Amino acid sequence: IAQLYGPLNWFGTYYRVIQKNFIDMEKMFELFEEPIDIKDPTNPRPLCLDRGKIEFDKVSFSYDGVRPTLSNISFTIPPGATVALVGPSGSGKSTILRLLFRFYDVQMGSIRIDDQDIRDVPQREVRKAIGVVPQDTVLFNDTIRYNVAYGKAGDERGVFMDDVIRASLAAQIHDRILSFPDGYESKVGERGLRLSGGEKQRVAIARTILKDPAIVCLDEATSALDTHTERNIQASLREMTADRTTLIIAHRLSTVIHADMILVLKDGQIIERGTHNELLSNPESTYHDMWMKQLKDESSGVNGEPIFDTG
Ligand code: ATP
Repeated sequence: IAQLYGPLNWFGTYYRVIQKNFIDMEKMFELFEEPIDIKDPTNPRPLCLDRGKIEFDKVSFSYDGVRPTLSNISFTIPPGATVALVGPSGSGKSTILRLLFRFYDVQMGSIRIDDQDIRDVPQREVRKAIGVVPQDTVLFNDTIRYNVAYGKAGDERGVFMDDVIRASLAAQIHDRILSFPDGYESKVGERGLRLSGGEKQRVAIARTILKDPAIVCLDEATSALDTHTERNIQASLREMTADRTTLIIAHRLSTVIHADMILVLKDGQIIERGTHNELLSNPESTYHDMWMKQLKDESSGVNGEPIFDTG
């Protein structure tokens, strides 16, 4: 179970059955017992993790074996760098994250972490190397402390309160937690406190900081956030992604501007790549179009409104 700590919203088939944001631990276990048809190799080599370089090498993938979902996807994320995926709904952004987490195997090409094909190593180790922050974070019906500590080895036992606090500070959620009636011991979930989307995402970020993975996958929230929340989220994201290899489904201006590389996806293909300035400097680019459309659609402009929801 430890391998599946990430209540990801791209658990797809297994996860979409859960509509609620809060679920019971037992339900979670039941869910994870569903067979996943990805098998470890007979004699897997251990994953030798260095700094988490990620390579997609001519990857093609189809869910049904008929319609191609991804075609010939190649890119490298150097250790510690950040790559942002943008593109319309259905263009394949989440599928790229799912393949990296090895929910499915690629049909052509390969995915490598620190030069090792992820099919050759135990999937548990691949998942342990990756921290995931989904768009809709699932919190357990338990204390805030438990929910942050859960990031560590999927188990709160043996996690020191100091570390929970340090991670919460880094995720800019500590002060908010202290404002709850029982602080870190406050219950959240159906029978406890209700957290906002931004707060839940910051709990997930604290969880990930505590887990301390070499690689981070993030599905940014699409919902508009108020300026204060946006600033908190950006600060906690910076803390989480600094020095970690990061793959983000990006919806926010602040994120794409700071990404080392942006991949523009359309119909399962990378149609453009480059930094924000590089892509924007070409008036013929799709990115440029998306950008202009966004500026036109938005009255508020550059204060962190979600962008690229062009699907
Ligand atoms: P969005 O921005 O809406 O999340 P996306 O760019 O992340 O979209 P994906 O979720 O990767 O897109 O989907 C790519 C394509 O694969 C879509 O046509 C989608 O319908 C299809 N797809 C996604 N998940 C599955 C699945 N579990 N089984 C079959 N087809 C799927």
